[in-house]
Amino acid sequence: MDFDFRPEEKQFREEVRAFLKRELPDWWRGLFSDDDRVPALTRQICEKLAQRGWLTISWPREYGGAAANEWMQAVVREEMWAHDEPRGPQYMNLNYIGPMIMRFGTPEQKARFLPPMAAGKVIWCQGFSEPGAGSDLASLRTRADDAGDHFVVNGSKIWTSYADFPADWCLLLARTDQKAPKHKGISVFALDMRTAGITVRPIRSMAGPRDFNEVFFDEVVIPRDCLLGAKNEGWMMVVAGLSFERVGVARYAKTGRVIEMLVEYARKTVVDGRPLSERPEVRAKLADLYCRYQAARLLNYRAISMQARGEVPAIEGSIARVHNTTVEQLAGQVGLEILGPSGQLTEADPRAPIDGRIEHQWIHEISATIAAGTIEVQKNIIAQRGLGLPKTD
Ligand SMILES: Cc1cc2nc3c(=O)[nH]c(=O)nc-3n(C[C@H](O)[C@H](O)[C@H](O)COP(=O)(O)OP(=O)(O)OC[C@H]3O[C@@H](n4cnc5c(N)ncnc54)[C@H](O)[C@@H]3O)c2cc1C
Repeated sequence: MDFDFRPEEKQFREEVRAFLKRELPDWWRGLFSDDDRVPALTRQICEKLAQRGWLTISWPREYGGAAANEWMQAVVREEMWAHDEPRGPQYMNLNYIGPMIMRFGTPEQKARFLPPMAAGKVIWCQGFSEPGAGSDLASLRTRADDAGDHFVVNGSKIWTSYADFPADWCLLLARTDQKAPKHKGISVFALDMRTAGITVRPIRSMAGPRDFNEVFFDEVVIPRDCLLGAKNEGWMMVVAGLSFERVGVARYAKTGRVIEMLVEYARKTVVDGRPLSERPEVRAKLADLYCRYQAARLLNYRAISMQARGEVPAIEGSIARVHNTTVEQLAGQVGLEILGPSGQLTEADPRAPIDGRIEHQWIHEISATIAAGTIEVQKNIIAQRGLGLPKTD
């Protein structure tokens, strides 16, 4: 068992780092900064990554990939996340919507939807959650009525990230059988977001712009060839898709970067005649964060190695996700403890230490243990499927 990357993967990481150093401007702080330049930059970066064959490096060549192994793709994900995800919302289509289509789509759907993703030209959003269906996703009520050559959608979604970016397509979950048990009457659709009858209403929150939207559907027509997989069998696809999503985001990589910044800060900052790096409590906090970061990284690698073998990392994805999200939150907390009150200054304040990154980390990662299935839901999955404990409501 070798946990190290191979020389060609290490070399590739250096190339990706050099690319990001060249391409990312000083003002870049990630997708959720209140800066109008963000959408254009993310599109530009994706197109440049695509031109180099890096955007979907592990995808088969016929869909615009470079047929590289999953570890090369993992390098791209880690470097992107460590640099505040400059692919913007496209990480979603690349990490799990594309792989879902690859696994469950017809040859025509694959040929239609995958190459534009690989070229870095389309934005997808995920239309799953509803006001009464978050953790209990199978209770969703948005309906898609079968009208022969098309379906007619009515209902609404909530917390739909990037719908207002604007997204070009939505991976939509809707009920296609009103009488079947709740897990059995759900279907998955690719919905063109420019279709008549769709209204997107942004929700402002402390997480910043672009994070959340409500989406309303009023007699929205979806052609039948946009039904993904078999009608009423969407639940199994969702379970697979969510496990790809949980593994796809290399959140730990951002923690790694925060650790580097905090270590540098502790070395350089002298308080009462002594660098912070010599204080036992600072060293212990950083060491503890580093241990948890390494554990999260290796748990992710375990899930990626399953994906590389073509398996779906259902429990492993949840285990990795629990560690990934909690270590991200801990990075913000440790940062605030080391920086003290000045750690709460935002990036807009020139006095903010480490360019206000700690405040950003703290605020933005609060939602990490809610998105893509809450931490309680992940623990339920691990208890039930991993430990064989009984199912509860
Ligand atoms: C940053 C962010 C981005 C998001 N982006 C999207 C998106 O693009 N598309 C989309 O469809 N959705 C998105 N979501 C929504 C997300 O999937 C839901 O918020 C999440 O699934 C929880 O659902 P809920 O908000 O309805 O909370 P609820 O399900 O109402 O949960 C409330 C609380 O009860 C707990 N709980 C619920 N059921 C159980 C149980 N059985 N056992 C133990 N505890 C339980 C939960 O853990 C939580 O603490 C996003 C959320 C966030 C935070």
